[in-house]
Amino acid sequence: MTTDAPAIDNGREPRIVPRAEHNISRSLISQNAVKVLYRLHKAGYRACLVGGGVRDLLLGREPKDFDVATDARPEEVRALFRNARLIGRRFRLVHVHFHGEIIEVATFRGRPQAGREGELEMENGMILRDNVYGTLEEDAWRRDFTVNALYYDIADFSVIDYTGGLDDLEAGRLRLIGDPEARYREDPVRMLRAVRFAAKLGFRIEPSTEAPLFTLGHLLESVPPARLYEEVLKLFLTGHGVASFELLRHYGLFAHLFPATEEVLAHEEQGFPLTFLTQVLENTDQRLREDKPVTPIFLFAALLWEPVRRLAAEREAAGTSPVQALMDAGQAVVERAVRHVAIPRRISLPMRDIWILQDRLMRRQPSRLNRLLAHPRFRAAYDFFLIRARAGEVDEALAQWWTHFEAGDEETREAMRAELRATGGGERRRRRRRRRSRKHNESPTGEPPRSA
Ligand code: ATP
Ligand code: MG
Repeated sequence: MTTDAPAIDNGREPRIVPRAEHNISRSLISQNAVKVLYRLHKAGYRACLVGGGVRDLLLGREPKDFDVATDARPEEVRALFRNARLIGRRFRLVHVHFHGEIIEVATFRGRPQAGREGELEMENGMILRDNVYGTLEEDAWRRDFTVNALYYDIADFSVIDYTGGLDDLEAGRLRLIGDPEARYREDPVRMLRAVRFAAKLGFRIEPSTEAPLFTLGHLLESVPPARLYEEVLKLFLTGHGVASFELLRHYGLFAHLFPATEEVLAHEEQGFPLTFLTQVLENTDQRLREDKPVTPIFLFAALLWEPVRRLAAEREAAGTSPVQALMDAGQAVVERAVRHVAIPRRISLPMRDIWILQDRLMRRQPSRLNRLLAHPRFRAAYDFFLIRARAGEVDEALAQWWTHFEAGDEETREAMRAELRATGGGERRRRRRRRRSRKHNESPTGEPPRSA
C-alpha cells in the first residue's frame, strides 16, 4: 500500500537549532506538558513537543495547547501515566489528563510497509485510519504544514526541523508538506486547517498550497459531519472568526460547510445578511480578546439565521403564524445543516429558542414581557436582536427600547408597559393593521417582509 505522503529525502540532514539560538524555554511550556516529556524521557523514550505549541512559542505567541510526540507506543505511554486514556480509532493517541488540561501524546507516524497494511486504511486517496508507527524523521514528513512539523526535543532542548518549517515561519508562509493536492485528498480537513492557520497567524498561503483550495472544496462532503463541527468551532470561536470567514468564502469552502447560508449570501453580497454575520463574528472575536465567554449556540444561530429568516417569511406569507413559521423554518434549516456540520442537539435546541424569541422581542406584548425577560435564552436573544439592529435589519429604536426596559427597575418597566398598552399594545396590532393594508394594496412587491 502506498500513500501520497512525500518520500523521505534520506540525504537531507535536519536543521537543528540548539537551545542558545532559539527562544523556547521550559518556563513557557505548560508544567503538565513538561512533566509528560520528562517522564517519557526518563523511561528511555524520545519525547518532543511538536505542532502548534512549538510553532506558537517560536512566534512569541501563547500556545492554545501542547502536543507531545514520542517513539513510545500508545500502550507504553498509557503504562507510564495513571491519568492516561487511549483515544481514537482513525488515529490512535493517548490523552494524559491533568486538572483542567489534557496533554495529547502521539506516537511517531511512519511510512506504511509491506505486510503491515491493516494499520493504514485508505479509500479514494483519503486516509480512513493511520496507525503506522515510525521514526521522528518519518513523523515530520507526515505532518500537515511545515510550520507544524517542528520538534522541541526535551533531551537537549534543541529545535529540530526536517521540512523547512523554520524558514517558512520566518517568512510568514504556510506550506503543505508534499504534493498539496494529494495531501488535501488524503485529508480534506487540511483545507480548513490551511484557512485557520492563515487567519490565526496572518500567514500567506504559499501558491501551490493555495491553488487547490479553490477547486477541492467538494471533498469536504466526504468528511464526517461531527469532525467538521469540531473544525468549525476552531475556525470561529478562537479569536479570528472574521478572517476565517473571509478566507472560507474567498476559496469557496464556506459553501460546503453551510450551503443554505452561502446561497443567500451569494445573492445578496452587499446586503445586511453579510453585515449581520460579520458583526456577530467581530463581536465574538472582540469578546475573546476581552476573555469573555462565547458560545456555539449564538454562533450557529447567527450562521443559519438568514436562511431561517427567509424561510419563515415565506411561510408567514403563506398564512402560518409568525412563531410557528419560525419554528418550522428553524427545524427545516437545522435538518439540512446537520448533514454537513453535525450541530449537536444541545446546541441546536437553544439556538432555535433564540430564533423564536426574535419574534417576541419584535412584538413586545405587554402582558408577556416579564415572562420573556425570565426566559433562559432572553439574554442571548436580546444580544442577537441588538446586532440585527446594528446591521440595519430591525428598527434601532426598538432595540433601544429593549435596552432601556431590560436595564430599568420595576417602576420604569411598569411605565413602559403602560405606555405600550396606551399606544396599542406593541407590535401585534400594528402587524395586523399592516396585513390588512397589504391586502388592499393593488401591487404587492412580492418581496417577503424583512422582519421576522
Ligand atoms: P492549534 O492547537 O494551535 O490549533 P496545532 O498545529 O497544534 O494548532 P492540532 O490540531 O493541535 O494543531 O494538531 C497538532 C499537530 O498534529 C499539528 O501541528 C500537525 O503537526 C499535526 N496534525 C494535526 N492534524 C493533522 C492532519 N489532519 N494532517 C497532518 N498532520 C496533522
Ligand atoms: Mg495543538
